[in-house]
Amino acid sequence: MSNLITIHEFPGGVHPPENKQQSTRTAIATPPLSAEYVLPLNQHSGSPAQALVKVGDSVLKGQLLARASGFVSAPVHAPTSGTITAIESRKVPHPSGLTETCIVLASDGEDRWCELFPEPDYTTIDHQALIRRIYDAGIVGLGGAGFPAAVKMASRNEDKIHTLVVNGAECEPYITADDMLMREHADRIVSGIDILCHLLHPEQVLIGIEDNKPEAAKTMERACHDRAYQVVTVPTKYPSGDAQRLIYLLTGREVPSDARSVDIGILCYNTGTIAAIHDAIILGRPLISRITTLTGDALAQPQNVEARIGTPAKDLLAFAGLKQNEMNNLILGGPMMGFTLDSTDIPVIKTTNCLMAGTAEEFPTAPPARACIRCGDCAVACPVSLLPQQLYWHAKAANNDQLQHHNLFDCIECGACSYVCPSTIPLVQYFRAGKDQIRLQQAKHEKAEQSKRRFENRQQRLERIAAEKEAKRKANAERAAQLKAAREAEKSAPAKPSETTIDAGKQDAIQAAIERAKARKQAAAGQPASEPVRKARPTLNPKQKELKIQLSMINAQLKKTERTLAQLEDSEPETTAKLRADIDRLREQQAQLQQDFDRAGDTNESAITSDAQPPAEKASKPPLSDDQKKLKIELAMARAELRKAERSLAEALEIDNDQTEALKLKVEHCRQILAEREQALAQPATSETTAPADEKPAKPKRAPLSDAAKKHKIESAMAWAKVKKARRALENASDDDRAALEQALKTAVSEAQQADAALSACLEQEAAQKASTNELPKE
Ligand code: SF4
Ligand code: SF4
Repeated sequence: MSNLITIHEFPGGVHPPENKQQSTRTAIATPPLSAEYVLPLNQHSGSPAQALVKVGDSVLKGQLLARASGFVSAPVHAPTSGTITAIESRKVPHPSGLTETCIVLASDGEDRWCELFPEPDYTTIDHQALIRRIYDAGIVGLGGAGFPAAVKMASRNEDKIHTLVVNGAECEPYITADDMLMREHADRIVSGIDILCHLLHPEQVLIGIEDNKPEAAKTMERACHDRAYQVVTVPTKYPSGDAQRLIYLLTGREVPSDARSVDIGILCYNTGTIAAIHDAIILGRPLISRITTLTGDALAQPQNVEARIGTPAKDLLAFAGLKQNEMNNLILGGPMMGFTLDSTDIPVIKTTNCLMAGTAEEFPTAPPARACIRCGDCAVACPVSLLPQQLYWHAKAANNDQLQHHNLFDCIECGACSYVCPSTIPLVQYFRAGKDQIRLQQAKHEKAEQSKRRFENRQQRLERIAAEKEAKRKANAERAAQLKAAREAEKSAPAKPSETTIDAGKQDAIQAAIERAKARKQAAAGQPASEPVRKARPTLNPKQKELKIQLSMINAQLKKTERTLAQLEDSEPETTAKLRADIDRLREQQAQLQQDFDRAGDTNESAITSDAQPPAEKASKPPLSDDQKKLKIELAMARAELRKAERSLAEALEIDNDQTEALKLKVEHCRQILAEREQALAQPATSETTAPADEKPAKPKRAPLSDAAKKHKIESAMAWAKVKKARRALENASDDDRAALEQALKTAVSEAQQADAALSACLEQEAAQKASTNELPKE
């Protein structure tokens, strides 16, 4: 077989004894069912899966037991049918003997599949749905990295993938899982490559196989004969199976240290991973087993087996004829990159490619490390062109800055340096420890930075809130000062009649208004006026008044919501969405109300215009009687009182103080009075216009109040005066007095309401008495 492409040899590398023939003498075997399977939730790079089952659940083979818990994660499926007996911490394959949460499944011996959904005609499926199927099947890199296969695919830029590399190099001594897979299941691998080509559209597919596996290479060539996939044999040299070394060998492209192969348009998948992709799409089967090499001189029948994920290592070793008394060490992985296990109870996981039961002769205990003699052999052997000797010194001194400066994180932990070191220094162990130390330091640093950022954000937020509060306080104080000044200006004008002398005051006002009306009449008749005629101010109609109050309330609510939004904007992003929606809604209401108000104003304007007719036209109206004039003036005063109350309410709503309730009551009270006056004026006016002038009925006179009613009326007026006083005191209050004055205002409002209620009760009682008297038969 001759290669059509140029092989680019990478620097360094070593040639340890291969020891592959022991496990390739027999076909891939299928061990019997185990009694129990232990399935760690974290068998891959990324977040651990989340268990979906509970103890006691019966499950079927292939059923989802734990779902992926993030983008970089992978689900876990049942390797056989049975019952969940525990979800607990168990020892997992790790150099430190780590324990992690595992789902324990007791086999029922029936090995019944759940329903599967094969998709042989995958070309009709949407690309994203196809990638999702691969993700849901729990497929991760079976070469050892354990990175979720679908995530690798999904993170690519489709236009840039020009080369798909199939990794069949398998350079690690002893391990033959990929070799046997290629020999026996080349069709599955080729079918998996077809699926990947359908998804990725690469310009070329290069299948890299070390030249120590001629049978596998031939089988793959045969399987690919009708496709443009190239099987390329590469020289046997450790670590040519490392993805980046293989990419360099096949393409001459180096992956930059801070990038991934996908960034240079190349994706690399292990043969086992590609076969699993075939199973997931064509057969609809999730990843529940893999080919694992069982080897080492302590096994009577070294071989490769189709091992179910979760099978205890002891069951597989027993299947391969473990000679317990000859086993000196149990290694997971190969002799170069693997690590020693202290128990045979650990389960096979998705990345378990080899279990080695070695004898003392095969893997003698390493002699104690001696001092570095600075021979430089490690640097020559390093395939990444690092300086292992320098890294060793810095790792020993825990000099993390220097370790990073010497690109420790480019080390692929291949162990070539340790392998050649004449002083038998366990260099890789120093490098792993150094990496862990740096990661820990970085995590601590990141945590501290996060805390600092949180503290700074909080400080800024508090300062902003304090500044806003201060600005609001100042604005309130200014407004209060303006109101106070306006009131003092009012006071300096002619004194307003007190509530107790209201009737006398009203009589004076009525008399004055009559005089002014007479003067206007005279002026209209060409006589000189005794006093200037005041220009009538346009008044709001009842609809406008109602709309104006609603508008003020909406404005106040809008301001309040905007302030809240400003305070929470940085710290609570979830709440701000709701606040923004509220603001939009309020603005819409505001616009609508403003529109209604303007429309109502248009109607009013025509009324105003008619009011502002020339005096000559007005003169054509029938003259009003003195009583009507008196009622009209009382009506005007009631309107003025209502207007004033409404203004106060609008101001209170705007500054959002606690007087709004009291003012609302006052507005209501004024409206009632206005309605009474309007009713009283309407009655005689109707009769006047319909009846002949000389048959005018006697004008209704209001019944004089009884002494008790007068007393209640005075008490009510005094109580409302007290409310007014309390309100003024609150407006000018300092922050310290505010709480006490708010309470005083509430008490005053309550007393005023009681006084009003007493007055109403008295009037009702008197009216009832009067009615009952009228109903009595006259003697
Ligand atoms: S191979 Fe070993 S002894 Fe030689 S320089 Fe490297 S660390 Fe030192
Ligand atoms: S373990 Fe690291 S430093 Fe040693 S040879 Fe491999 S890549 Fe180089």
